[in-house]
Amino acid sequence: MIETLVKSIFIDGKWHTAESDKTEAVYNPATLEAIAEVAYGGEEETNKAIQSAHNAFYTWSEMTGRERSKILYKAHELMLEETDRLAEILTTEQGKPLNEATGEIKGAANFLLWYAEEASRSYGEWLPSSIKSKRMLVIPQPIGVVGAITPWNFPASMITRKIAPALAAGCTVVLKPAPETPLSAIEIVKILERAGLPNGVVNLVTGNAEAIGSTLLTSKDVRLITFTGSTKVGKYLMRESADHVKKLSLELGGHAPIVVFDDADMEKATTLALASKFRNNGQTCICANRLYVHESVQERFTKLLTEKVQELHVGYGLDEGTDLGPLINQQASQKVQAHLDDAVEKGAQIVCGGKRWNGDLNGYFFHPTILSKITDDMLVMNEETFGPIIPIQPFSDEESVINKANDTDYGLAAYIFTENTSRAIRVSEKLEYGIVGVNDVFPAVAEAPFGGIKQSGIGKEGGHHGMHEFLEMKFVSMGI
Ligand code: NAP
Repeated sequence: MIETLVKSIFIDGKWHTAESDKTEAVYNPATLEAIAEVAYGGEEETNKAIQSAHNAFYTWSEMTGRERSKILYKAHELMLEETDRLAEILTTEQGKPLNEATGEIKGAANFLLWYAEEASRSYGEWLPSSIKSKRMLVIPQPIGVVGAITPWNFPASMITRKIAPALAAGCTVVLKPAPETPLSAIEIVKILERAGLPNGVVNLVTGNAEAIGSTLLTSKDVRLITFTGSTKVGKYLMRESADHVKKLSLELGGHAPIVVFDDADMEKATTLALASKFRNNGQTCICANRLYVHESVQERFTKLLTEKVQELHVGYGLDEGTDLGPLINQQASQKVQAHLDDAVEKGAQIVCGGKRWNGDLNGYFFHPTILSKITDDMLVMNEETFGPIIPIQPFSDEESVINKANDTDYGLAAYIFTENTSRAIRVSEKLEYGIVGVNDVFPAVAEAPFGGIKQSGIGKEGGHHGMHEFLEMKFVSMGI
């Protein structure tokens, strides 16, 4: 146990234990050792946090964008200053290699910077009136108190991607992080505190997801729930928010295809496919879940990719040279194994990997795996694996591969590798996804809208589009 953080609930500018004094352990997924103890809050704490956010809303929303942006700039600066320490905390609670954690902290800081800049660019409209005696204005106003629920796979950037635009827009927040990774959330709130955020503007409740969630859902004061996580929980939030007609912004699961055309640069395509699939050990909403490779290049592509995969090092995220850390928990490991077993039973061939990694650590590690002889009915082709397995299937023509790529209820991200610009544009337009990467597998940046369609979500995060989620457009009609 490296730290005791039983005062992990932040309400109205003060750190609290849970009313019940209950706590919950946080584990290092690489070693399965407990590394911290955090407060296990619930309904009572969430109600207080909502009240605190509600009280703070009036002053925070009336500050100018410039005043709000100063605090976000400061938070950005503090986060960058502390990158190394924060990255180490992130790796310790989440497992990803330190270089990836460092990249995530910098990316998380970028959201603070981008929305510091956006805070003073929240424009309204002066409409040309059709009636001489009227003037018409549209003014953007912050929606109110926001409930933000985040997952464990990107414990820093998923928080700033929500909090930064919410604060820039003038909203106040009650944050509920994932129980696996509360330490990064606590650090981010401490940074905002040090940056001078007024009391009550951001509140943090760690603890019982159902109790915190249902309190956020049933409170009339919470006007928006912004959620990143599974489609299953997203659907629950949607159903339960109906009674108060609450606005929702949902960033949900995905099942990303990568399509490798015969004109692709094979060196680049294999490097990018590797980066997409094995970043965060395949536990990324936009990472490749299935690969379609043109039949004329499949053999070459698979050989090149296999060579690269065999060079990857599985191990402890804090050790230099580690490419793949552990899976987050036993449930995740069981899912990866179930997907592998299902594929093999249905005729898949293991090209490399295909088993747990039994190093000297207790966590749930898995060898990076490539599968061939894939059929459409396999789980790997239909459900998020959230682990290091790449299934490769050949295709013969553009139209059929577009149909296959689109044949899913998900619609978050898809990727194509081609050197033919006309094809790149044609196929991008036909893919039913919120994000398409053309020879690019890292499309998540602060300045661009990120979000899925179909059952991958509603709304956008990032870019000026991300601010709209937190703003209401009020129409003011004036007779003169
Ligand atoms: P999850 O099980 O849906 O959990 C996400 C968050 O929701 C956690 O904080 C969780 O807390 C909370 N939660 C669960 N049930 C709840 C309830 N009834 N009320 C309120 N909150 C509740 O997802 P996960 O396993 O953490 O994350 C992986 C998923 O997130 C994948 O599907 C991935 O694709 C998706 N994801 C999407 C994006 C995107 O941008 N589209 C980005 C990252 C991840 P508890 O764990 O305590 O239940």
